[in-house]
Amino acid sequence: MAWMFLQNKNSLLHKILFKKFGAKIWEEGVKRGATTTWKIIKEGIDYPKPVVRWQVNNGHSININADNWILDRSLNRWPATCNTIDIDDKKVSFLMDEEGNWNSKKLSEFFSEDMVKLIKQIEKGMNNIEDKIELVHTNTRKIVLALCAEANSVQTDSKYSKFKWLKKLKVDQKVYLFWWRELNGALPTKEWLCYRRLANTTECPRGCHENEDTEHIIINCSMLKVLLQKLRSCGFNVPSFQDLDECTMALKQRADKGLVKIYVLAVYYSWRSRNMVKHDNSKIPIAYTAVEIISHVSHLQ
Ligand SMILES: [Zn+2]
Repeated sequence: MAWMFLQNKNSLLHKILFKKFGAKIWEEGVKRGATTTWKIIKEGIDYPKPVVRWQVNNGHSININADNWILDRSLNRWPATCNTIDIDDKKVSFLMDEEGNWNSKKLSEFFSEDMVKLIKQIEKGMNNIEDKIELVHTNTRKIVLALCAEANSVQTDSKYSKFKWLKKLKVDQKVYLFWWRELNGALPTKEWLCYRRLANTTECPRGCHENEDTEHIIINCSMLKVLLQKLRSCGFNVPSFQDLDECTMALKQRADKGLVKIYVLAVYYSWRSRNMVKHDNSKIPIAYTAVEIISHVSHLQ
């Protein structure tokens, strides 16, 4: 029903409800006092959300951060590719000039270079037409309902229950967030960016000649290995792992142990210095990073 509501803008129901609520249908939550029909449609709309996105026309109906309009997800769920705080609550039309063309100056003010390129590639419709909903994957033969069920179950399984044990590590919020994103496949690794057409290669930018995926960041990166070796030479016998399963299992079971925490911090600091290398070619000396990790862990409970 929700899908029909979205598709058929000439239906009486759409006309009445859209007049009353306008583009609010995509905003979070159902307000008190809403009509029953409205509640049903609203709940129905939240359900297909992960498999649909907006086709940008005049940009007035699309929230920059909360709605899907670039590739397959909303910016709220894209890590570190834009300054999301200053554009919160703004509509996509905010990023356009008066004729409805992309405003390059505004785009580069809020987005990274790669993202600006990607946004400019989006096929934008006419400025005198309202924005429209489309399915993210158009080639698929699956029916809409099956797609929704799939996307919703992926979300609940992986994101909200699988990595609860991370909390037990009792590390700082930024380290926790980094690991949570990493394990949920939401860190902008080269593989992640390449899949979304934001990078040309999946290779690790630190010269490892390997795919930069989750396992590479957490276990195999040569620079991480050097850092771990440095820590061992300082007398901290941090564990080493063969693969991601072995690593997450160990972290899960021994979350309270000091050496596991040092490992967790080493991966975080390794990622941090990887980003500095990527962005301005400066390099933090390994010994300095090792000292930083040890002093950091001594501040944790
Ligand atoms: Zn590497």
